Amino acid sequence: MPTADTAALRIRNVRLIDGVRDHTVEEAVLEADENGLITYAGPAAGAPPIRFGQREIDGRGGTLLPGLFDCHTHLGMPSDRSILEVALMSDPVLTMLDTVTRLESTLQSGITSVRDLGALPVGFRDAVAAGRIAGPRIQTSVAVISHTGGHADTTLPSGKRLDLESCVIADDPTEARVAVRELLRAGADVIKICTSGGISSARDDPDDQDLLDDEIRAVVDEAGRHGGRAVASHAQGRAGILAAARNGVRSIEHGFGIEQEGIDALGERDAFLVPTLSAVFQPLDPSETTPWRYQKKLRWNGIAKENIARAIEQKVQIAVGTDAGITPHGENPLELTYLVELGMSPIDAIRAATATSARLLGVDDRLGTLQPGRLADVVLCATDPLKDIRALGDPARITLVAQQGVVRSTRLGDPTVDALNAERSHS
Ligand SMILES: [Zn+2]
Repeated sequence: MPTADTAALRIRNVRLIDGVRDHTVEEAVLEADENGLITYAGPAAGAPPIRFGQREIDGRGGTLLPGLFDCHTHLGMPSDRSILEVALMSDPVLTMLDTVTRLESTLQSGITSVRDLGALPVGFRDAVAAGRIAGPRIQTSVAVISHTGGHADTTLPSGKRLDLESCVIADDPTEARVAVRELLRAGADVIKICTSGGISSARDDPDDQDLLDDEIRAVVDEAGRHGGRAVASHAQGRAGILAAARNGVRSIEHGFGIEQEGIDALGERDAFLVPTLSAVFQPLDPSETTPWRYQKKLRWNGIAKENIARAIEQKVQIAVGTDAGITPHGENPLELTYLVELGMSPIDAIRAATATSARLLGVDDRLGTLQPGRLADVVLCATDPLKDIRALGDPARITLVAQQGVVRSTRLGDPTVDALNAERSHS
């Protein structure tokens, strides 16, 4: 539900969490110019007077935050149907339209930027960037690389193959390098590999190492040769986590089995952990899954909670990702609730979803904090998330989302805005 298209925005009557300060600013104002660049974010008392052409919005005492990031989505995958059903039983046009709907609901939940780690073609990224559809800013890996029989091998237990374009198999360093080149040719912004097996794959285990050390090094080198692109790795068990961290991967995805060695390896290399707790805290119903998957999940959820809590305690550099597609779309900010449940402070959870995630995606010079010169990607929450972090995960309490100063969705209602505009034209 896009509203006005001017980027010259002024939001008043808000509590500000700017992603820089440790504390909130009560009675704050944020201003952006016609290019959607922030010109002021701070106390109302110090704000410049309203200018002609600015759209002023009354934030109604809500809390204004930088637009949130989800650094691990699968927007091309529905969360309510199996990959089999989509691959074999669904009309491709309807499947594409479903993705458009998911992009919208993700944006409306407060997520203004995503990194998609498998199954999202670059056309969606480009369509959002061109303003043809509404959605978060997108970086996409397009596909996932793993070895034969590994986490992203979509050969089914029947022996039949799905042959999904989103899964690429590589079994030696040369094949790994070729796989990276193919994905870069397809327009990938980031490379996603598997260095461990997975919970959802039938014939491997999170304890198994997927790509081997020399294959990981080939991927990291090839990605780096092309504009310094980063590599993200699905790494759940200890072996896969250590192999990824020691061979130059920038972010460990899931990291459920991260132990002290893994925590140290990340710290030494300034790498990131994206714990995808939404998958860990997802309700488990044995009647809705296969027995082997249920047993794996039960075991690994326990391991994950213990290890991620330790990583939080030791201040590992954590960025926010949900694995949406495996978990529901459009409720992404619930991830912050789970981080807080495992010991992170609410302000640190917000920083993880904004400034830290922006750093992981290499866009922290433009996004992730609300300060002059940055793009006005903002989210307004009706209540104070520092008092109750669950508010951010409740779409009904996300009252406004803007990207680069342009309001993408609002529950505040346009009459307020119009009244203010009328007031302004009289003054
Ligand atoms: Zn994933």
